[in-house]
Amino acid sequence: MSLKNYEFWFVVGSQFLYGNEVLETVARRAVEMTDKLNASGNLPCKIVYKVTAKTNSEITEIIRDANHDPKCAGIITWCHTFSPSKMWINGLANLQKAWCHFATQYNREIPNNEIDMDFMNLNQAAHGDREHGFIGARLRAARKIIAGYWQDAETQQRLGNWMRAAAGAEFSKSLRVMRFGDNMREVAVTEGDKVEVQIKLGWQVNTWPVGKLAEVMNAVTDEEIDSLMKEYESLYDFATDKIDSIRYQAREEIAIKKMLDSEGCCAFSNTFQDLYGMRQLPGLATQHLLASGYGFGAEGDWKVGAMTAIIKFMSEGRTGGTAFMEDYTYHLVPGQEYSLGAHMLEVCPSVAASRPRIEVHHLGIGDKEDPARLVFEGHEGNAVVVSLVDMGGRLRLICQDIHCVKPIMPMPNLPVARVMWQAMPDLKTGLECWITAGGAHHSVLSYDVNYELVKDWARIMDIEFVHIDKNTTVESLEHDLFLSDLAWNLRR
Ligand code: MN
Repeated sequence: MSLKNYEFWFVVGSQFLYGNEVLETVARRAVEMTDKLNASGNLPCKIVYKVTAKTNSEITEIIRDANHDPKCAGIITWCHTFSPSKMWINGLANLQKAWCHFATQYNREIPNNEIDMDFMNLNQAAHGDREHGFIGARLRAARKIIAGYWQDAETQQRLGNWMRAAAGAEFSKSLRVMRFGDNMREVAVTEGDKVEVQIKLGWQVNTWPVGKLAEVMNAVTDEEIDSLMKEYESLYDFATDKIDSIRYQAREEIAIKKMLDSEGCCAFSNTFQDLYGMRQLPGLATQHLLASGYGFGAEGDWKVGAMTAIIKFMSEGRTGGTAFMEDYTYHLVPGQEYSLGAHMLEVCPSVAASRPRIEVHHLGIGDKEDPARLVFEGHEGNAVVVSLVDMGGRLRLICQDIHCVKPIMPMPNLPVARVMWQAMPDLKTGLECWITAGGAHHSVLSYDVNYELVKDWARIMDIEFVHIDKNTTVESLEHDLFLSDLAWNLRR
């Protein structure tokens, strides 16, 4: 499902106190705001004005409908006037979709000459917001609050980002993940409680035999491979004459895609330790699937595979790129402290600075034939790395702000795609924070989401969120994690 297929319902709070004329004005303005917001170009999904609510039953009914409508990814509430909040309790207590309290008002300015008590009674969002805010706090609701003028681009962009998070939550609730093989032997961080994950995030994580994939691969036709080879040629430079190796990757890609699509899966994992019946570890195959929007995690890491799919979904229409990533090695020269991220093959070309090259090299791990892979440099820009870990009884989502740079050296003998970045607040502190929080070596690296969007998603899913940014210190993080651990254990 595309992000664009989701919609958000605009529910405007009021009451009968002000008379019909005011209510008609409120409803008319709500329609005008909906139309202008939809036309702004800053929202990824449509807003649908639903009701100017005056009663408990109107609110309860619209929230019941929102819960049941698969197109509705959330409600946006706004109080043009004062809307007594006890009449919201029955509805909000049962809300199963994301909620944004939009703290805005119709007029930007206080009109100096015009303002009188009639104006005040009609335009009292400041009054209504506080009553509405209290009931959200009292219900301990996982709501998003966005304050700002509704015609400001920045306000609209924040609303748009929240919509992406809310739609990402709906996507998550129906996400299916296909596992080929188990997790890499003895590795801890790629493990996780799949039942807990399905309860909290909705993911259906199941396994299919590698032997079945090999069967599907063997049934792929030359015509199918020819067609995919043309696509490769249009997107990538062929920097090898080992065409058979590329064709073999095409065969793998076609077969994996067939199996994913037949089961409705948007993410997959595999492992170099279980490639029975396959001649190469999928490299180019996985990279091209990632570029098409599928999530992937190596070494059986289904958690990062699913997170990659979700962040790609939430980033629809953006062009910075989102990749499965792994922290590999450091450059520790004072003043030039960088992390070098890569993988043995499977970095997504959506983050490439220029047209990727297809190369074929020996792969020491996995004991298979030399696989074709895409080689490129990641582009410069601000990004985040995101890691989901299982803390035992709860999930923790860690998000670190990073700044990617053009790699400071060409590394001509490195046969894989690479991204170089500065972690926030600096390499040493950022690394100590990441390790303190238990962040994995695998992550999702994205230029297309910011921490606020990732945090909103985590809040909607009701999981722990940890942010490492330019102001984080090890001491403050340790303190936060200590309190967070107590709080989450109380909630179990
Ligand atoms: Mn790995």
